[in-house]
Amino acid sequence: MATGFGTDVVVIGAGIFGLSVAWSCLKRGMSVTIVEKTTIGAGASGGVMGALSPNVPENWSPKKQFQLDALLTAEAHWAEIDAISGLPSGYGRLGRIIPITNARGLEHAEIRTEDAKSLWDGEAFWHVEESTKFNGWIAPDAAPFGIIHENLSARINPRLACLSLAKALQFKGCEILEGWEMATIDHNEISGPSGTIRAKAIVMAAGVACFPYLESLWGRNAGMGVKGQSAVLGGVDAANAPMIFGDHTYIIPHENGDISVGSTSENTYGDPYSVDEHLNQVIERAATICPALHASKVKHTWANVRPRARKPDPMLGPIDGPAGLHMATGGFKIGFGISHKCGETIAAMIAGETVFLPKQFHASFAEANK
Ligand SMILES: Cc1cc2nc3c(=O)[nH]c(=O)nc-3n(C[C@H](O)[C@H](O)[C@H](O)COP(=O)(O)OP(=O)(O)OC[C@H]3O[C@@H](n4cnc5c(N)ncnc54)[C@H](O)[C@@H]3O)c2cc1C
Repeated sequence: MATGFGTDVVVIGAGIFGLSVAWSCLKRGMSVTIVEKTTIGAGASGGVMGALSPNVPENWSPKKQFQLDALLTAEAHWAEIDAISGLPSGYGRLGRIIPITNARGLEHAEIRTEDAKSLWDGEAFWHVEESTKFNGWIAPDAAPFGIIHENLSARINPRLACLSLAKALQFKGCEILEGWEMATIDHNEISGPSGTIRAKAIVMAAGVACFPYLESLWGRNAGMGVKGQSAVLGGVDAANAPMIFGDHTYIIPHENGDISVGSTSENTYGDPYSVDEHLNQVIERAATICPALHASKVKHTWANVRPRARKPDPMLGPIDGPAGLHMATGGFKIGFGISHKCGETIAAMIAGETVFLPKQFHASFAEANK
């Protein structure tokens, strides 16, 4: 522990970003305290979807490479976490099916089959197949030009994954203070009604709550919350089937036999946590693609707000502000797929190492691009 500091690193927020940063810092031998306003996974991370899916294999970029590296290392990461915590994260690399609905889509899908071979380093495939290969799981009418079947995508159970990671952190000596709300950040110090914590590094991983704070520093909009609604359906056992992504809708079989469907994407909304008729439309779309869902029942629903930076990229690393402050937010729709790699990046930055990071992912890039 550094002299004069209560801890090496204090992380604000016990969502998947904050927990992942804490994990990577601990692995480097730093002492870590997490403060969480309410409870572990109380924000966007406590959800029910959990698609870890790649971008299409074309127009390659450092961003896509970062995401690919994350997806290819996720299995080993979660296996390690689950082994230490003794809890299941629900991770499973079961792949994804995308219905092809027109001739142009088929043409693109076939070109991407070749691109995937080289861009995905031979680690995963992207095939065009007959929809009848997944008879009963996908409606032939929903895929008149066949399907894309890729085996890079995985699913995780977001809520369970947060609990597994939190338990592994605590087992390794990380302090997680729930009910501890950060109110102010000063040089190497955060304060709130529960007290003050001094640390060499402060990592703000407070999800959408990062944006008003950044706005107060930058004097302009830094990002927004995009609401999503989703549902968990029971009564159809398809735990080992690939997830489906069609008509803007994910259908994700989970390890316990439940199937999650979602999500809406709403830039304007009233109550961020309630569901409405938009979710019924999502469920109907899902059942049109996956007829087995007609026999299912809604077990529960969930809505929350994704942290979307102004340019929809993660915001990672130091900014011009209180000494020691690093940002870790902006996971938007792919937060779970990249979180462990974002965590490693922040930990390396805190350790003073040079990191490889797409330039758009640096918080300082967002800061400079007003
Ligand atoms: C409906 C929906 C579906 C989604 N589906 C997927 C998907 O399939 N795949 C995927 O990869 N991603 C998905 N996402 C996105 C993913 O959930 C987010 O990218 C990710 O959870 C963001 O994590 P985070 O840690 O940055 O934020 P959060 O999980 O919101 O964590 C921030 C934490 O900070 C705490 N906090 C806030 N202010 C303070 C404060 N002042 N003091 C202390 N603590 C504070 C909050 O209570 C919260 O626990 C989905 C999101 C939604 C809403």
